[in-house]
Amino acid sequence: MESILVLTHADESGSALTKASLEAVTAGKELAVRLGAELTIGIVAKHATHAAKQVAGAAPRVLAVQGDAFAQARFASDAAACTELCRAAQPAIVLAPHSSRFARVMAAVAHRVGGVIDTHITSIGGADTVEATRWFYRQRIESVVTRNKRPWFLLLDAGTHAAFVADATTQPDEIAIAVELPELRTQVFGFRAPQQSQQTIRPDAKLLFVAGAGWTKKQPDGQTHVEEAGQLILQFLAASGASLGSSKSLVDQGGEGQSVLPFLTHLNQVGQTGSTPRHPKGLSTCCHGEEPHVVGWRFIGERRAVSLDPNCGWTRGKADVVYVADAFQVMARVNALLGKAVSSS
Ligand SMILES: Cc1cc2nc3c(=O)[nH]c(=O)nc-3n(C[C@H](O)[C@H](O)[C@H](O)COP(=O)(O)OP(=O)(O)OC[C@H]3O[C@@H](n4cnc5c(N)ncnc54)[C@H](O)[C@@H]3O)c2cc1C
Repeated sequence: MESILVLTHADESGSALTKASLEAVTAGKELAVRLGAELTIGIVAKHATHAAKQVAGAAPRVLAVQGDAFAQARFASDAAACTELCRAAQPAIVLAPHSSRFARVMAAVAHRVGGVIDTHITSIGGADTVEATRWFYRQRIESVVTRNKRPWFLLLDAGTHAAFVADATTQPDEIAIAVELPELRTQVFGFRAPQQSQQTIRPDAKLLFVAGAGWTKKQPDGQTHVEEAGQLILQFLAASGASLGSSKSLVDQGGEGQSVLPFLTHLNQVGQTGSTPRHPKGLSTCCHGEEPHVVGWRFIGERRAVSLDPNCGWTRGKADVVYVADAFQVMARVNALLGKAVSSS
């Protein structure tokens, strides 16, 4: 019988598990039920008691590594914590979120316990075996991986499972696992991040809003309106909470000395050489919808586009709804409606 360990970690608060960790718990629970396997949850946090409550009812055994050293991501302390959790649970299968914190330590942990690892897993199938699915070649080829070697570590992409909801009637008793820390050469003095209002990439947003190069092109009056474009986009992001994506042409303009929207970087780029975000809905504006861009929309549920060109890629089967319209006018109207909705609520 396979035994399964789900490794989880807290967010910046030090005591609440990340959403991606709770998704891994759901995946572990489903897999354990299907295989009739024993499930253990491992927690790495500054304070593990609240985190353990978030996984109440998921598994009979909860192991926790906690303390100040585990408040923030650091290779030496995180790798030591995950290794000790694996030694305590002796799992055949280890599931963990593919977060930046765990992605950078988990290959080393797998090596330390003599295991193997696969990353970017999107689903786990199989009747009485474990079959892990991942995409290759920019989400064009989907493959199913099976392995005989154990322990087998699987890092799960965020947004692929529902977040686990605890059973409030159960009181989990977490077992503290002691970790002998190696010499810590990295000291974490603080955390510097852009303010939430400046943070335009929001993986948990319900909507992806994509800005294309059209926003900076000459408009019917023969002029460019980049400043107005920036205001319309930022107003919409603030009112809707959407995540901001971009076409390659738009983010590349910064490097060519042209006028560009200052809040966009290559991190916003969606597509073949950009990201493949997961959101229930997507709205593309001033973007032509060429294949290298649209390949990044594979995991967007409902797709809509606003483009002046009735022959753009979106109208050729890439979007569910296309508005052949001027995005400056459409977004100004949408912002006005959103403003009214906010002021009347
Ligand atoms: C190897 C390779 C990899 C690539 N990888 C990527 C990638 O990862 N991501 C990516 O995005 N691209 C990628 N590309 C580039 C891609 O092929 C396109 O060139 C790019 O997506 C075009 O960007 P765009 O649609 O914003 O710009 P454009 O093609 O310039 O289209 C602008 C659109 O805006 C419309 N428009 C203008 N004004 C308005 C208005 N007022 N209202 C409404 N619509 C308006 C125009 O009609 C036009 O359709 C790649 C290309 C190659 C060769």
